[in-house]
Amino acid sequence: MKKLTTLVIATSNKGKTLEIKDLLKGFPVDIKNLDDFGPIPPLKEDGNTFDENAYQKASFAARILGLPALADDSGLLVEALGGAPGIHSARYAGENATDEQRYLKLLDEIQGESNRSAAFECVVSIAVPTGPALTYEARCQGMITESPVGSNGFGYDPIFFYPPLNKTFAELTRKEKSRVSHRGKAFAELKDEFDKVLIWIRQNMPVQEVVHG
Ligand code: IMP
Repeated sequence: MKKLTTLVIATSNKGKTLEIKDLLKGFPVDIKNLDDFGPIPPLKEDGNTFDENAYQKASFAARILGLPALADDSGLLVEALGGAPGIHSARYAGENATDEQRYLKLLDEIQGESNRSAAFECVVSIAVPTGPALTYEARCQGMITESPVGSNGFGYDPIFFYPPLNKTFAELTRKEKSRVSHRGKAFAELKDEFDKVLIWIRQNMPVQEVVHG
């Protein structure tokens, strides 16, 4: 039987963990998330790019737990707003705001604007405790609608129109969205190479000292 490699998803989000477990089904990997361990200090996320934030979360979890860890960071970049909300997508309307409050604020900010171009970006980082990391990133180009349409998905999905399918992300099923979304594409790339990723993890994990008593 193949030895399982443990991979910690640097999140407590059950939905995210299940999605990633599903995606990596069949590979010799034992997926855990932060809730499988005792309390750990909060993950730092104060970088200036998705890349920095994904790496910060993955490498911090890897160092604290002594295990390989994966983190993702994503957000929406609106051209007319100079790339906002970007890395601030999750807290665009304040700490405790709802998804609806966030996308309504965005619609308000670009009211009357003719350039509706926007893109979602996602970066996935896999880090080992000694520092090195692998990075996967993907982008999905679309347009901001004039008003929300659809009720699937989360976040800014109801105002993100995806021209190739002539629908907003909130009108797509989860499967349809995964095929084209920033996150879906980044994870598809990772999945395509996952055998090599496992070899890289094994080669880069610190060697455990065996103490004979
Ligand atoms: P994080 O990657 O968990 O830090 O979340 C980034 C934020 O970007 C989310 O809270 C959403 O507001 C937004 N976001 C990221 N991906 C999507 C998506 O697929 N649909 C809608 N909003 C998204």
